[in-house]
Amino acid sequence: MSLLDRLPPVRGKLSEQVSLAPYTWLRVGGPAEVLFLPKDEADLAHFLSSTPQEVPVQVLGVASNTLVRDGGVKGVVVRLGPSFAKVTTQDLTVRAGAAALDSKVAKEAALAGISGLEFFAGIPGTIGGALRMNAGCYGGETKECLTEVVAIDRTGRRQIMSVEEMAYSYRKSGAASDLIFTEAVFKGIDDSLDAITHRMAAITARREDSQPIREKTGGSTFKNPDPVQSGGRSAWQVIDAAGGRGLTVGGAKMSEKHCNFMINTGTASAKDLEVLGESIRRKVKDTQAVDLEWEIKRIGEFTRES
Ligand SMILES: Cc1cc2nc3c(=O)[nH]c(=O)nc-3n(C[C@H](O)[C@H](O)[C@H](O)COP(=O)(O)OP(=O)(O)OC[C@H]3O[C@@H](n4cnc5c(N)ncnc54)[C@H](O)[C@@H]3O)c2cc1C
Repeated sequence: MSLLDRLPPVRGKLSEQVSLAPYTWLRVGGPAEVLFLPKDEADLAHFLSSTPQEVPVQVLGVASNTLVRDGGVKGVVVRLGPSFAKVTTQDLTVRAGAAALDSKVAKEAALAGISGLEFFAGIPGTIGGALRMNAGCYGGETKECLTEVVAIDRTGRRQIMSVEEMAYSYRKSGAASDLIFTEAVFKGIDDSLDAITHRMAAITARREDSQPIREKTGGSTFKNPDPVQSGGRSAWQVIDAAGGRGLTVGGAKMSEKHCNFMINTGTASAKDLEVLGESIRRKVKDTQAVDLEWEIKRIGEFTRES
């Protein structure tokens, strides 16, 4: 019996053996055993409550922070579609669906004269990914403007969570890993469209200058290390000091422009990228005595060869 036969009827779409590589920024990885595109929140909740609890369920945004391994992902991969991408504003509040792109949220907030969400202009993911990763850049972080999150748990129960319940730390939420976030509410402060647009433009210009944003990449490969251990150096500085800039494995390369970004030069496998990352971790440990922790999420199975 295939997995599809064990899944409940849905109003959205269920498909078998869907290649995930085109859905990821790194453009690598094997298929999802089943890909589920829910029609709306009720469809998602019904699916989760009716799917046998032992079936693994993994949600993805636009995978700008995820490496899918070459053997693909067992179980169900959920991808939220257009009905989860609405963004509305009222007074100083922004309500955004989890599939909305961060850049769209920044733009809608700006148009409504709401400041405090400008940093989202610099992050190429979705709100769902930002909620899980506490995404941030240039001094702004998701947790600082977030007030409420709507989530569906693995049993299909809808929950409304406060920012405290999201248990945030650096690029991490301590909220239960089975939660699928569907919506978020942010609060900003009053400012003029001009001033906000100016700050957003500065953020995007800074990113263009310092990051390989037109490459197939996953953003920062590693979190910034413990400042005591690294002597206050960030991840790219210890990688540079360890000779990691430009290091290649097969089609995978540490970017010359920003050496904490790994890139798929066109022919990389997920294995190339992961082996490169692990070899960087070893080099940094051996030569700089610093432990690097992956920021990129790695999901799925190795192939027999990998
Ligand atoms: C060029 C480039 C620059 C980047 N710059 C930055 C930066 O400056 N700052 C920064 O913080 N990040 C940066 N990133 C990383 C990435 O964009 C962020 O981590 C982003 O928040 C990930 O969003 P996503 O939709 O791509 O998430 P994905 O990569 O799809 O998923 C990431 C994690 O979030 C979970 N997730 C996704 N959606 C949901 C949901 N609806 N409910 C529950 N969990 C969910 C996934 O299961 C996974 O664990 C960059 C990436 C790239 C490629």
